[in-house]
Amino acid sequence: MHELSLCYEALALIGQQAGRHGARRVTGVWLELGALSCIEESALRFAFGSACRGTLAEGSMLHLAVRAAPAWCWHCGAAVEISRHGAGCPRCGGHELQVSGGDSLRVRQLELE
Ligand SMILES: [Zn+2]
Repeated sequence: MHELSLCYEALALIGQQAGRHGARRVTGVWLELGALSCIEESALRFAFGSACRGTLAEGSMLHLAVRAAPAWCWHCGAAVEISRHGAGCPRCGGHELQVSGGDSLRVRQLELE
């Protein structure tokens, strides 16, 4: 399952950060999900919960933010943001977009104890 492997990656990072700060427990996790990641929020929450089991982050509160993907429109020559696959340019409706990123899961902030 894709969600689960992403969660394990995020948790490895969270564990490192927690260790660096000498935290006993992670109480809150803020994740930023790229809008083009094809990951469903409910699936991610479920995967995160099970990936956390037995780690410092067990029982932590998960805050999830979806971030639009930055793109460049060749048609109107503007930097825009798109929030789903196949979406046109929000300015001109064109589909000649060069998308950069927007498909990743990032740890944005942690609350440690
Ligand atoms: Zn455009």
